Amino acid sequence: MDTTQFLEKLEKEKTDLELLLKELEKDTEDAKSNSDEASTEISDSSDQYEAMQGIFSKKEVVKKRLDKIAYALQRIKENTYGTCKKCGKAIEELRLKIDPAMTTCRDCSEK
Ligand SMILES: [Zn+2]
Repeated sequence: MDTTQFLEKLEKEKTDLELLLKELEKDTEDAKSNSDEASTEISDSSDQYEAMQGIFSKKEVVKKRLDKIAYALQRIKENTYGTCKKCGKAIEELRLKIDPAMTTCRDCSEK
């Protein structure tokens, strides 16, 4: 299978996500310093907390996605990309076009 197009897509998404993660780290720092300044105002602290939680869960999503991409990139290197992790059959190319980090074929993902 020609993995070039998927490799490019994965590399691009990885770059985008790493940038996003940096922005989220910065938001976390901002939220922290804001909460220090506003520590005397109790009414603000729950909003701050919610903002932090929101950033935190976004970061988790981005990190999970980055893990999946790293795994897909590793599989390209090992020449196992495009084969199902569970049954070893080829993953439908259409699935990889929708999500290049896909690791299972249609049959296995539906189970
Ligand atoms: Zn499978």
